[in-house]
Amino acid sequence: MSIFSYRDGELCAEAVPLKAIAERFGTPTYVYSKAALLDNFAAYDRACRAHAKSGNALVCYSVKSNSNLAVLNLLASQGSGFDIVSGGELLRVIAAGGDPRKVIFSGVGKSREEMRLALSHDILCFNVESIPELQRLNEVAGELGKRAPVSLRVNPNVDAKTHPYISTGLKENKFGVAFEDTLSTYRAAAKLPNLEVVGIDCHIGSQLLDDAPLLEALDKVIDLVDALEAEGIALHHLDIGGGIGITYDEEKPVAVGDYLERLFARVNAWRDAKHGGAPIKVLFEPGRSIVGNAGVLVTEVQYLKHGASKNFAIVDAAMNDLMRPAMYEAWHGVKPVTQRMQPGKVYDVVGPVCESGDWLARSRDLAMEAGDLLAIMSAGAYGMTMASNYNTRGRAAEVMVDGAEMHLIRRRETPQELFALESLLPGDAA
Ligand SMILES: *Cc1c(COP(=O)(O)O)cnc(C)c1O
Repeated sequence: MSIFSYRDGELCAEAVPLKAIAERFGTPTYVYSKAALLDNFAAYDRACRAHAKSGNALVCYSVKSNSNLAVLNLLASQGSGFDIVSGGELLRVIAAGGDPRKVIFSGVGKSREEMRLALSHDILCFNVESIPELQRLNEVAGELGKRAPVSLRVNPNVDAKTHPYISTGLKENKFGVAFEDTLSTYRAAAKLPNLEVVGIDCHIGSQLLDDAPLLEALDKVIDLVDALEAEGIALHHLDIGGGIGITYDEEKPVAVGDYLERLFARVNAWRDAKHGGAPIKVLFEPGRSIVGNAGVLVTEVQYLKHGASKNFAIVDAAMNDLMRPAMYEAWHGVKPVTQRMQPGKVYDVVGPVCESGDWLARSRDLAMEAGDLLAIMSAGAYGMTMASNYNTRGRAAEVMVDGAEMHLIRRRETPQELFALESLLPGDAA
């Protein structure tokens, strides 16, 4: 069964017509499929169980791709760990019932406060990106009388061949420790008394369709692990990051199971050849490939504007709800929620925000009338988590479908909530 498919002309999420969700909860609304989330996680889980030596693998879902508590809770129930990039994300994971001991903390700019929070919850590992960050973490851990488990995020200088804004593993990117500085940085880390060097990490980019760059990065990481071991720095895990792409349009991403099979074949052959078969734990940080195609954004057509050179469909979702088109010129499929039998016209689908960059899709052949609903497809990842309140627009509601049931997992924000944290100057207004 396809997760988002038409039944009697009505686009459904699992067995629930999107129209019924819009009637009950309004628009714009993000709709996620529980079955799709479980399937996508299971692809990783199955491959890890099949190929990792003695279960030495952990999937750490990338919280920033979709951080709704219900999503995190569902993945935690499947045994997922979590990759976080802020203290706020750690608190979300804990609130959702996730295990902090399965949390890894990525990001170039961790504050002291975030380090303290993560140390107090005994997270699995800090993925450290620079020497000053090592020094700060060493100090903070010392103040708490703890030893901080660390990996270094290395920049393997591999071209992920993806959009420049989501490519992170090249020399010119801000992320990670430069490949040629890795050994010296590990030596520095090993000397710091309140750090415990436990692993190595890389994440070369996002929306990768081919696993060749990931396997190339893996080979470089494997060489580093051996070089470190020769110096007496033994690592317990390697973390290959996330980055597997999804189908937005016609893309044909590598199947997760095939990628993991190839990856574990290399890891296992290496361990057998050089380490007497001793396993090393392998961590993954997938985000988009778990949630991206598990969600759509449902929006209502407000006005149709037919012009001399262009037609516009003005909808009630905007760049503040789904930033990816404005930010990366990303392409999302657009489907009518109720199919119409009349011929279509070519439209740009745009939002009400006062920016020319506020578009969701361009030049789409659609048959619709004002008041119709549209589904913006493949919007489960980097959709709601990037949403803002620009133009004092409350963020969309979020609903999770489970078979024939729909559950509100985040209610729509009210305008009053958007300025509730603000205050006037004291005294009479100037
Ligand atoms: C964003 C991010 C991920 C997730 O990437 P996807 O392409 O969504 O799989 C993993 N690791 C790090 C460090 C990230 O910043």
